[in-house]
Amino acid sequence: MADTAMNVNKSQELFDDAIEVIPGGVNSPVRSFGSVGGTPRFVSRGQGAHILDVDENSYIDYVLSWGPLILGHAHPDVVDALRAQVERGTSYGAPTELELRLAKLVREAVPSMEMVRMVNSGTEACMSALRLARGYTGRAKILKFEGCYHGHADALLVNAGSGAAMIGQASSAGVTDAAASDTLVAPYNDLEAVEALFNVHGEEIACIIVEPVAGNMGTVLPGPGYLEGLRRITQEHGSLLIFDEVLTGFRVAHGGAQQRYRILPDITCLGKVIGGGLPVGAYGGRRDVMEMVAPLGPVYQAGTLSGNPLAMAAGVATLQALKDPETYSGLDALTARLCDGLEAVAGAKGIPVQVVHIGSLWALFFSERPVTDFDGAKASDSEKHRLFYHGMLRAGVYLPPSPLETAFLSTAHSEGDVAMTIDAFDGALDGLE
Ligand code: PMP
Repeated sequence: MADTAMNVNKSQELFDDAIEVIPGGVNSPVRSFGSVGGTPRFVSRGQGAHILDVDENSYIDYVLSWGPLILGHAHPDVVDALRAQVERGTSYGAPTELELRLAKLVREAVPSMEMVRMVNSGTEACMSALRLARGYTGRAKILKFEGCYHGHADALLVNAGSGAAMIGQASSAGVTDAAASDTLVAPYNDLEAVEALFNVHGEEIACIIVEPVAGNMGTVLPGPGYLEGLRRITQEHGSLLIFDEVLTGFRVAHGGAQQRYRILPDITCLGKVIGGGLPVGAYGGRRDVMEMVAPLGPVYQAGTLSGNPLAMAAGVATLQALKDPETYSGLDALTARLCDGLEAVAGAKGIPVQVVHIGSLWALFFSERPVTDFDGAKASDSEKHRLFYHGMLRAGVYLPPSPLETAFLSTAHSEGDVAMTIDAFDGALDGLE
């Protein structure tokens, strides 16, 4: 169908084969191109801002492994760090200096994380943070927001964004009523709804967990006063505030959304960038809260591969490279130039779009109105998105294959890449007016 103009024979062959042994042919749902149709590209290599598929098609990559690769693919510092570590062994299950170095780099950038525990994914970080908030407060309920995704732990798969939103049900099959019954849900950017829930359940709510900039319904910014309001309400009711910065950490600013918006949560979850492209997550926060975690306290959490030396080495190399303040000004400026360019092209053709960007995150909605919540994100034109998506692919631009995802830039993207992307957009919009 939409792929006829490109040779994707090898990707299609591999996908047909993969479907036999891997559910849907993929190891994470959104990779299956379910929202856009066509053949998922099987990637054979990545270098800098570009990826090559198995049919030798080359693309400017704005997925970047869904965020981790802020330095681009195969950055020499990361490759060297991995090479040096791999010869010393890949895992010990005992403490290493690398874990300490990464924890300190994290704390330096995100000072509210007075203590940090490394885990293996963002899912694990959020799941562990919830247990900690419940253990600390002795309360059962949690409050999350429609369209926010915090990984696939049972209690969090309620009105979740990202790939879960495409499943078309409020929560996943296999999540028991018991697991979901302590999860309260409010629309994003609606403080009154939060107040109302706290008025009824205030004494029972252990925490609010929020993406301080939402990145799993496209990119949705917090409205003025929203994060301040969440901070105030949690404080008033003795609940904890958890910022899930798995996606925004080291992206929205060096110190994440909490630095940009100047709101300090009690617990922060990280992942993606801090692992430099290897599997990592982390949660951390106030010392008195983190002291509840085993072996210091009664909240159990453990991991065979937690603090894995390869992941720590890639993370340390990445965070070292990000210490240069010019990294962020450069990335932010290039992202803004890309988004301004896209907006201008759509404007010239009279196609209503909302292009949202912050730091090196960006998203484009085919929508006439600014998007402030999940309903608004879902109301954007998915058919236009599908056509645009394939137009971009044909022109060599690889974007997240869903209208409800965030795209990323890396330090490896050049002005030339951005100019080519804007040109590609011009072509991809032809026929969409
Ligand atoms: N939280 C947020 C905000 C995320 O965007 C994601 C994944 N995209 C997760 C948690 C889960 O992280 P992981 O996929 O590493 O488990």
